[in-house]
Amino acid sequence: MDLRKGFDISRYVRDIHDYPKPGIIFRDITTLLSNPYAFRASVDELMWPFLQEKIDYVVGIEARGFILGGAIAHELGCGFIPIRKKGKLPGKTIGQDYTLEYGVDTIEIHADAIEGGDNVLLVDDLIATGGTALAAVELIKRSGGAVVAACFVIDLPDLGGSKKLVDAGVKFHKLIEFEGD
Ligand code: AMP
Repeated sequence: MDLRKGFDISRYVRDIHDYPKPGIIFRDITTLLSNPYAFRASVDELMWPFLQEKIDYVVGIEARGFILGGAIAHELGCGFIPIRKKGKLPGKTIGQDYTLEYGVDTIEIHADAIEGGDNVLLVDDLIATGGTALAAVELIKRSGGAVVAACFVIDLPDLGGSKKLVDAGVKFHKLIEFEGD
């Protein structure tokens, strides 16, 4: 289903070459977020497959996943839970190491945020190697939650992350993709 009716979201993503290091094309969504049509189209189309699902929480990954995930949680009428970089959450946390396209890091979730049996929709702006998203899926599962799906504005399929998610049995939803990295 095309809620965009030909509206091209990819036109609002800005390519920044050699950021954060040489050879990387950073897909900047601040230009998408600042456009009212592109922002609304993105939020609407990210959430529409899940309108009929029982979702208890949207989990967003720091930092752009907070902006999209907060809007989606508000629209779905469910709660929002942040996954943050190590050391940022104030309460007791559980953590998971992951490999980023450009480095290694740890993400954390509050240990008591999700209860057994909670249904979770995972949201981030972009999936590349899938390291971050798979670590987030692991955190949700270790918390006792079930991942209904993981959704992203942008997929970089050549980096293999979306395939890894699907192979891990996670329902995957994306709006646009870019070839290469
Ligand atoms: P990965 O773990 O490799 O799938 O990387 C996904 C995370 O890193 C997401 O939170 C993205 O926001 C960020 N990221 C990775 N590669 C890029 C890129 N080329 N442009 C923008 N963000 C990226």
